[in-house]
Amino acid sequence: MQKRMNDSELLDAFEGALRTDALFPLYQPQINHNTKHMVGAEVLMRWKDPEFGMQYPSDFIPVLEKNDLIFRADLHIFELGCRFLKKCSEQDIHLVPLSFNMSRYDIYNHTYVDALEAIRKKYDVPVKLLRIELTESSAIGGLALVTAAIEKLHSYGYIVEMDDFGSGYSSLNILKDLNVDVIKLDMKFFDGTIGGRGGIIIGAVVQMARWLEIPLIAEGVENMEQADYMKSIGCYYIQGYLYSKPLPEETFIDMLQRTSHEPLKPAMNLISTMDAGKFWNPQSMETLIFNNFVGAAAIFTYEENGSAVLLRVNEKYLRELGMNLSEKEIVGHDVMAGQDEHNKKIYTDTIRRAIASRDEETCETWRAIHSDCCGDDEICLRTDMRVIGVAGNQYLLYAMVQNITAEKRNFMVLEQSERRFRFASEQANVYAWEYIVATRQMRPCFRCMRDLGLPAVLENYPEPAIAMGIFPPDYADMYRDWHRQIAQGVKSLEAIMPLTVGRIPFHVRYTTEFSESGKPVKAYGSATLVIEESQKT
Ligand code: C2E
Ligand code: CA
Ligand code: CA
Repeated sequence: MQKRMNDSELLDAFEGALRTDALFPLYQPQINHNTKHMVGAEVLMRWKDPEFGMQYPSDFIPVLEKNDLIFRADLHIFELGCRFLKKCSEQDIHLVPLSFNMSRYDIYNHTYVDALEAIRKKYDVPVKLLRIELTESSAIGGLALVTAAIEKLHSYGYIVEMDDFGSGYSSLNILKDLNVDVIKLDMKFFDGTIGGRGGIIIGAVVQMARWLEIPLIAEGVENMEQADYMKSIGCYYIQGYLYSKPLPEETFIDMLQRTSHEPLKPAMNLISTMDAGKFWNPQSMETLIFNNFVGAAAIFTYEENGSAVLLRVNEKYLRELGMNLSEKEIVGHDVMAGQDEHNKKIYTDTIRRAIASRDEETCETWRAIHSDCCGDDEICLRTDMRVIGVAGNQYLLYAMVQNITAEKRNFMVLEQSERRFRFASEQANVYAWEYIVATRQMRPCFRCMRDLGLPAVLENYPEPAIAMGIFPPDYADMYRDWHRQIAQGVKSLEAIMPLTVGRIPFHVRYTTEFSESGKPVKAYGSATLVIEESQKT
C-alpha cells in the first residue's frame, strides 16, 4: 500500500525510521553528456514506511524542517552515504564523489558541519569524495551564515555546490559573494522549454558561470533535446531521468562498475564561442540579466589604437557614477571620460593587462563628473574588467565598477593626519618610527637617524635596536613581545622605558594600522622624553 503520511504520522514514525533505515538514500548519477562518463552522483533521501509505503521528500522534508528534525535526517543520510563509500572502497569498487543536500535549517545549526566531519572520520572517507549542496534560498536570511558555513566546509576540504541556481532568489551577484565550487541549474525552473525565454536565461547563466570558471551541472534533464541544448551552450554535465532515475544502492553499484569516471571541470573557451551580439539586443534575455541581476556593469570595446568606447551600461552603473544621465547619453562615449592623463594611463594599462592575461584585472581611478544637481565633483572607481570577446584587433570587455570615493577619502585623511603627526614630531622632542609588520622592517624618523645614528631602514626589527643597546637588556623581551602582539593585531601599546646608553626614561607608544580586511599592516612608534613632560608641569 502507498499512502501519503500526515504530519503526526510522520513525527510518530521518525525515530523508528532512523533506527530501521526506513529513511535511506538513493543515488542519481551525473553524466558528462559528451563522453558518457560519470562525474558524480546526488544522494536523495527516501522514506519507505512499513505501513504507508514510499514517501517523497517534497512531502516529508517540510514537516521535518518545521519540527527541527531535518538535521538528524540529513546526518543519517550522510552517515549511510559514508558507510556506502567505505563499503565500496573495501570492495575495490571505483567511486565517484557524492553530493549531499544540506537543508537551510542545517545552516542555522552551528554544530552541523562538525557533525558531518565526525561522521566522515568515523568511516574514513576521503573528503574529496564528498560534496555538499546548499540551495540559493539559504541566503534569504542573509549571507553571513551561508558564507560562514561555506568557509567551514572548505576548511575541512568539502566541495560546495550551489543547488537550484536560477530558482528565483538568484541574483547572479550571489556567485561573487558565495564562494561555491559547482553550480547546479535545474531545468524545471526554466519550464523545460528551450529556445524560448527559459532557454535564453539558461544561456546567460551558463555564460556567467563560464566567466567565473565554475563547473555547471544541469539537473532535471529528461530528454535528448534538453541535453543537446545544454551541450550546445557549453554545459556538459547532466543529471536527470535521461540518464538515470535515482537508484537504490545495488543498481547504482552496477552502474558505477559499468561506466568510466572523470572529474568535474569548469566550462572553458568562452571567448571563441560567445555570442557577444546578444548583449546589445535590447530584446535578449542577456540584456535582462545584465540590467537586473548584476551589479554596476558596463561593456566597452577597446581598439589597439587606444580608443575605448562604451557599448552598454546598466542602471546601477549610472547610479554608481552618480550620473543623472540615461544609458543613451553616455553610450558611444569614451569609457575613460573625465579621467586625466595619469588616470587614463592606469586604466589603459589595466585593459592591456586584461587582454594579455584573459583574466580579471582591477584598477582604481579618479574621474571628474558633472551633475546638474550637485555640480562638479571627483569620484574614485574601482573597476574589475575582463575580456569577453575578440574580433580582429578589437576587444570586447566587461567591467564591474564600484564607487569607492568615500573609502579613498577616509584613507587620504588618515594619511594626511599621519604626515602632520610626523611633521609635528620632528618639531617636538619626540622620536618616531614606523614598523612594517609583514617585512619586520623599521623606518626611523630623521631625528632618530641623527641622534642615534640609525640607518634609514632596520631589518629584523627590534633585534638591531636591542643589539645596539638602545633598548636595555631587561626590557628586551618585553619589547620583542610587543612586536609579536602587533603582528597578532593589538591596537596600541605603551610603557615607560629607560632608553639609550643614558637610560633616560621615555614614554614609548605604538599605534597599529590595519588594512581594510583588518590585518595589521604597520605600527607607528614614538618615544617621548618623560623628564621633559614632568618639567613642563
Ligand atoms: P533537489 O535537491 O533539487 O533534487 C533533485 C530532485 O529532482 C530530486 O527529487 C530528483 O529525484 C528529481 N529529478 C532528478 N532528475 C529528474 C528529471 O529528469 N525530471 C524530474 N522531473 N525530476 C528529476 P526528490 O528526490 O524528490 O527530492 C526533492 C527535493 O528534496 C530535493 O530537490 C531536495 O531539495 C530535497 N532532498 C532530497 N534529499 C534530501 C536530503 O537528503 N536532505 C535534504 N535536506 N533535502 C533533500
Ligand atoms: Ca540537491
Ligand atoms: Ca536541485
